[in-house]
Amino acid sequence: MIVFDLVCTAAHRFEAWFGSGSDFDDQKARGLLECPWCGSRQVDKAVMAPAVPAKSNQRARPVDDPAAKLLAMQRALEDKSDYVGSRFAEEARAIHAAGEQRCVHGEASLEEVKSLHDEGVPLLPLPFRPRARSDA
Ligand SMILES: [Zn+2]
Repeated sequence: MIVFDLVCTAAHRFEAWFGSGSDFDDQKARGLLECPWCGSRQVDKAVMAPAVPAKSNQRARPVDDPAAKLLAMQRALEDKSDYVGSRFAEEARAIHAAGEQRCVHGEASLEEVKSLHDEGVPLLPLPFRPRARSDA
């Protein structure tokens, strides 16, 4: 058995075991490789980190890094949801009033969240900041 670090087009890293090096090529050719984070079949071998002395033999990003999982979650959400920034409260209210199934995310004050909640508008606090902000 041989283990490869694989990476998809969205830069998700994961490990996969193969019977041999040619198994990888075979499975890739048949479209059997799939990113466990986003389901992408555009998967390739990741560039291996260079060997480093035992003293600092730590990978920059372990495969089960919770931050990586969170990032994958965030990307999946951003695919399905529109960022509306500080207009979140009014957008959410309008969508709810119109009975739409659309998803939006953005920022809202505690007061806005409370009144949306009182009005029965479904909302969910996110465990991360919208990218438009975290990139600022
Ligand atoms: Zn992926």
